[in-house]
Amino acid sequence: MDGTVTSLVVTGIGLLVTNDADLGTGPLGELRDAALVVDGSDIAWVGAARAAPAADEAFDVAGACVVPGFVDSHAHLVFAGDRADEFAARMSGAPYTAGGISSTVTATRAAADELLAAHAGWLLAEMRRGGTTTTEIKSGYGLTVRDEARTLAIARGLTSETTFLGAHVVPAEYASRPDDYVRLVCGDMLSACAPYAKWVDVFCDRGAFDVDQARAVLEAGMRHGLRPRLHASQLAAGGGVQLGVEIGAASVDHCTHLTDPDITALAGSTTVATLLPGAEFSTRSPYPDARRLLAAGATVALATDCNPGSSYTTSMTFCIALAVREMRMTPAEALWSATAGGARALQRSDIGVLRQGARADLVALRTPSYVHLAYRPGVDLVAAVWRAGRLVG
Ligand SMILES: [Zn+2]
Repeated sequence: MDGTVTSLVVTGIGLLVTNDADLGTGPLGELRDAALVVDGSDIAWVGAARAAPAADEAFDVAGACVVPGFVDSHAHLVFAGDRADEFAARMSGAPYTAGGISSTVTATRAAADELLAAHAGWLLAEMRRGGTTTTEIKSGYGLTVRDEARTLAIARGLTSETTFLGAHVVPAEYASRPDDYVRLVCGDMLSACAPYAKWVDVFCDRGAFDVDQARAVLEAGMRHGLRPRLHASQLAAGGGVQLGVEIGAASVDHCTHLTDPDITALAGSTTVATLLPGAEFSTRSPYPDARRLLAAGATVALATDCNPGSSYTTSMTFCIALAVREMRMTPAEALWSATAGGARALQRSDIGVLRQGARADLVALRTPSYVHLAYRPGVDLVAAVWRAGRLVG
């Protein structure tokens, strides 16, 4: 009945990944022969199948593995246009540079709100079907006060995890006076965008914004009540990682070129290192050294970086497979980073975990183990997806 909160028991779970070490074995808190009860939008009970309480409805996953919904903490979904030709050229030997973003900016500025919203919604639906139940969405392809504000308003219609990325790249009209653009970002653009944003972000890298400019943008955002995160060290090592740690950023994203002091700083902080292996795959670049980060004790998240230029994938399972094959993460580490790690990167404790009181975001796989996410790459292994207790895929 509409409006009536009903309970659901998910039965026949051969292997349940809770991400709560108190609930099961190993760092993923794994439970065999488990059941899980959803009440409304939240998880009401987790435990052994034989002890499961009754519920209004039951869903039998027939021995499959159930994992927390994926948390994609880094995505650029609001844009227009297509850069397939640029990708084809790159695969034929052309290098990736930050400048390619400008072609998407031109297309996005020319696109109506309805088109941008429909396209972003289509990408979000693709993510949901693939098991992603939380998605962060950035602006960054408008780069005018009006276009940044309207793309963020569209993002806010799709997720609560919205990020102001006016400092994505210096737009062409400011190419000769980048500091004037930074002043615009920190002033009128931020004022127009802050009502729609939770986070402030900046692309601090070679060819994008330097550390002083990045600091100015992040601190201005923080004065407007936004929380900081940043893109750093994708193209070259620089001061972005240390800046992120110093100002208490929730995450520093990419981390492809890290120095020893960068690793030490991340390991000694609450700042998450978010790795985006889809970008290295799609730009044919060396992958980040995940093992070095993990050995030092840094918290690692995985995300898609879904964007039309350098990583046009919505698939967290693809990123898990890349993390295992190319970055030598174990399947368990990769799954944790794609779920609980993403939740840490968004400073959320209600997602990325399956325990009583958490939001009921879960994925039933077609397989007996999560290892298959890397073992069977490129295969749709998602049988069912619940988000906030509702079956969405
Ligand atoms: Zn990005």
